[in-house]
Amino acid sequence: MQIYRSEVMGYCRGVSGVISLAQTCIDMAAEKGLPAYSIGWFIHNPTVVQRFVSQGMIHIDGPAGIPPGVALVRAHGISDPLRKEFIDAGFILIDGTCGTVAHSQQLVRMCRKDQHVVIVGLRTHSEVVALSSVFDDEGNIVPVSVVETTGDIDKLKAFSTSQFKVVVQTTFDSAQFSTIMEELYFRYPDTILANRLCPSTKRRHDALLEMLKVVDAVLVIGGKISANTTALARLVESRKVPVWHIENEREIPEEIYSFNHVGVTAGTSTPEEDIDAIIRTLEEKSI
Ligand code: SF4
Repeated sequence: MQIYRSEVMGYCRGVSGVISLAQTCIDMAAEKGLPAYSIGWFIHNPTVVQRFVSQGMIHIDGPAGIPPGVALVRAHGISDPLRKEFIDAGFILIDGTCGTVAHSQQLVRMCRKDQHVVIVGLRTHSEVVALSSVFDDEGNIVPVSVVETTGDIDKLKAFSTSQFKVVVQTTFDSAQFSTIMEELYFRYPDTILANRLCPSTKRRHDALLEMLKVVDAVLVIGGKISANTTALARLVESRKVPVWHIENEREIPEEIYSFNHVGVTAGTSTPEEDIDAIIRTLEEKSI
């Protein structure tokens, strides 16, 4: 079996940044004699998160009933009301929000009165949750509609007198995004697109497409709840190439050994160690 590594895979800038801030959070908490918290999962990769949990980091969703401490804001950001709740409750926040996501939140914040924000993304994804609850200059929540599929566009009828300002989840599936934008422009030609998919995601997609020219099966490595990792797997599926989305070497499927050219790629929150461990196992078992 010949193994191909995608030319671009693994950690993006935002993930590297929040991982180093996770350490800052733990160190600062220890120095001040306070608990260290992570607000939600700071990245969507269980192995990395576990490394910090074993150093004492505690996951919390909100400040209610919890002793104040030093809390890390995840790479996908948190909503403005939740941020305020933490600050009002006396927590020290270490802001790990990726700059690209923070910029998207700012675009929502700056929405004009004659516009309506349409967030294209997965309703339950933490980045979309953060974008859906942003304060304007007067401290009011900016109203938004979330569009996950073209079917959701029907629900925008109620706002047809406004111009739609689209803010896309930075890691949303690119094919699905194009389909939704085509439909939006068709029905509402004045629609404006305020941001783009994250270039880190695009670079990984382009490298994967290049690799698909020479492989006959693919392993996509990363957290099962990671949207960008899942999007990589869906991209392979769309090209009718067999694909498995796995988190670690124990999940390598036996069927993979029946292919001669196997490609490996990984999501933006997948550590190099996980990729190396899987490639090592493939090499050892395919001799
Ligand atoms: S994928 Fe892009 S937007 Fe998301 S954390 Fe990484 S750099 Fe930031």
